[in-house]
Amino acid sequence: MKIASVIVDVPAMQTDKCFDYLIPEKWENVIQPGMRVIVPFGPRTVQGFVAGIKGSTEVGHLREIIEPQDLAPVLNKELLALGDWLASETLCLKISAYQAMLPAAMKAKYEKRVRRMDGHQNPFLDEVFGKKDEIGWKEADQRGLLPFLQKEAKNGTVEVVYEVKNKANKKTVRMISCPLSEEEIRRRIEEISGNARKQKQVLEFFMKNPKIKATVSDLAEVSGVSPSVIKTLLQKGWLEETSEELYRDPYADRNFQRSVPHTLTSEQKQAIAPVLSAIHEKRSEIFLLYGVTGSGKTEIYLQSIQEVLNEGKEAIVLVPEISLTPQMVHRFKSRFGNDVAVLHSGLSIGEKYDEWRKITRKEAKVVVGARSAIFAPFENIGIIIIDEEHENSYKQEDNPRYHARDVAIFRSRNHHCPVILGSATPSLESFARAQKGVYTLLKMEKRMNNHPLPKVSIVDMREEMRAGNRSMFSKELFGKLKDRIEKKQQTVLLLNKRGYSSFVMCRDCGYVLQCPNCDISLTYHRSTNEMKCHYCGYETFVPTACPECGSPHIRYFGTGTQKVEEELGRLLPEARVIRMDVDTTGRKGAHERMLKSFADGEADILLGTQMIAKGLDFPNITLVGVLNADTMLHLPDFRASEKTFQLLTQVSGRAGRHELKGEVVVQTYTPEHYSIQFAGEQDYGRFYRQEMMMRKMGSYPPFYYLTLITVSHENVMKAVSAAEKITRFVRSRVSDGTIILGPAACPIPRMKNRYRYQCLIKYKRETRLKETLTVLLEHFQHQIASEGLSISIDVNPNMMM
Ligand code: ADP
Ligand code: ZN
Ligand code: ZN
Repeated sequence: MKIASVIVDVPAMQTDKCFDYLIPEKWENVIQPGMRVIVPFGPRTVQGFVAGIKGSTEVGHLREIIEPQDLAPVLNKELLALGDWLASETLCLKISAYQAMLPAAMKAKYEKRVRRMDGHQNPFLDEVFGKKDEIGWKEADQRGLLPFLQKEAKNGTVEVVYEVKNKANKKTVRMISCPLSEEEIRRRIEEISGNARKQKQVLEFFMKNPKIKATVSDLAEVSGVSPSVIKTLLQKGWLEETSEELYRDPYADRNFQRSVPHTLTSEQKQAIAPVLSAIHEKRSEIFLLYGVTGSGKTEIYLQSIQEVLNEGKEAIVLVPEISLTPQMVHRFKSRFGNDVAVLHSGLSIGEKYDEWRKITRKEAKVVVGARSAIFAPFENIGIIIIDEEHENSYKQEDNPRYHARDVAIFRSRNHHCPVILGSATPSLESFARAQKGVYTLLKMEKRMNNHPLPKVSIVDMREEMRAGNRSMFSKELFGKLKDRIEKKQQTVLLLNKRGYSSFVMCRDCGYVLQCPNCDISLTYHRSTNEMKCHYCGYETFVPTACPECGSPHIRYFGTGTQKVEEELGRLLPEARVIRMDVDTTGRKGAHERMLKSFADGEADILLGTQMIAKGLDFPNITLVGVLNADTMLHLPDFRASEKTFQLLTQVSGRAGRHELKGEVVVQTYTPEHYSIQFAGEQDYGRFYRQEMMMRKMGSYPPFYYLTLITVSHENVMKAVSAAEKITRFVRSRVSDGTIILGPAACPIPRMKNRYRYQCLIKYKRETRLKETLTVLLEHFQHQIASEGLSISIDVNPNMMM
């Protein structure tokens, strides 16, 4: 007797444990840990993951596994353990952790159906079901049957069942080949009568290309015949048709010219040496590669990976979603060709699934991808690289709320391999760890082209206002823009969108159009002339009169990229502008086309939001302008200064990366703020010291760890009362040095019609915190499950909103 311990896809705390199922005899040798199976659960049928297999159980009445969903485990031993670790570290359910490690296509979809249980005794049901035993829920709904079926369900004559649907399907193509030998083909050609000239053409093609496989349409084209000729040959058995799996490779149609490794500079050699020894000595060591923009970090990644491949091992490279640009992908593909699989959110669900399968079949050795690529199912990892390690997007904001850096370190311990965290502006946490010797610091201070970093000039926009300049361009920036256009050089203009957007306000009464579900103002979208809420997706038309006072003087304020574009058109009509923001890059491939056209010199100015700050490497960019440097500084987030410094440094790095020298103009209303000052001087060291002081005074990371508990409920009283209870409970359980803030309303106090309160825990050492929080979640289970209360716990939160 073999028994499987299964984690079921029923996301609740009560079911967050292994359930035992009997493995039917016919599958005793098939079912293994890490496979997905379909099991009965109460009245339902659900998907589950086999966590382990054993020979006996305490459970009296065992139910049987219905069927396996996989032929091989989809989670290997390491990933199963990683899932358990994730669940305990981030306080999420095991099922969420397992699902997070797999492509979305493998998550079970359930189809609701109504099944007849009465043994065909009931004339009403005879009519409803006809000859069938089941009908779809949707169909029943459309026929208006649900109220009646509900009554029947109470009597036990029908029941609702959930059927697991597997979304992932492989794409196949039919390929034509010729099974005949050369000699046989020759004979057939001679046999064919004169008027079947077309058939001869096809056979002659296979004479010349004996081993080839081609699709019907390709074959028809190359041999100059119609598809019907090929059909005839298939019927005669002279050609053969097979079904081949086709990978939806989004990069398939592009040719990548092979790049060769550069000879490393002495600075690069020094930086890579300890990494190479960690690879050779199979050592789990964490490196922080702190190198200014353009210092050649990517070449270090490429050559470390080459070393790993030489040893027959695999590599994972994470880059932030936003800089997973074609240019970046190209650098890896052109060095390692088809060994590279790419995983990013631009791929369709099917494409992601294909790339994942390529990895499990060991057809790819290098994965380049955004956050979730850290779960690539490799079994022999030789290195993990996280580029731009300071980026927000490495932290997942939903369950499991993991940070890719922590997962990387966990996997590096399992595989005894190094991790490189690379950045020109490391996160404070990482740099502090490098200072303490927890990470090994590798520094690269020189740019590849030996040019100094571009000169940054900070313009005080208050002065501009006083001098009577009401335009969004300062005199200095405007002068330089004109100069670049005359010289036919390129400019990047950044409009910092975070914490800043276009809103609609009544000029008479000051009324601002707000989302009815969330406590934030709606954002104006020019292209569709709509108002949208960025939190809940609510949309509405722009009013022609103020809903509050009826005045027609209601219009939008704030600067959007569209408005900058218009102003550019007015002031510099000769300038060719490409605008990149969420509105213009929505369509698939748009992002890439725009960058290509800028690279080809089809525009003078690239205007955009945060998405243009990173990864661009074009020789002709000699000016970078930041229109509004400080909007982010006012966000209620202890990382606001750090984020501002990072953004300004990153975008400045886009200028003068090659032969031509670069300049940067930063416009701001708070020129005296240290994060703007030090970004202007490109002085990470001084920024780090100043910011560390601020963090120490505020008891923030890296001096303290944080855990944020957010409570929300539709009813404000219920939200407040739960938040108070939780805060009291936590306070009674923690040690003396720990600081508890709250409960307080969240910076966004209402979202999607739910009131939000939070409690922030700051601690240095709190060994029993996880246990305390688990008890807390268990205590509130009932209210979570049946009263609409939501409690989210974020360990090391990135966003404080
Ligand atoms: P970073 O990632 O640190 O911003 P990159 O890796 O993009 O820097 O390097 C900047 C430029 O220098 C790139 O165009 C890259 O191809 C080039 N480069 C890197 N290393 C070398 C080298 N050893 N010799 C010549 N060129 C190099
Ligand atoms: Zn009004
Ligand atoms: Zn909203």
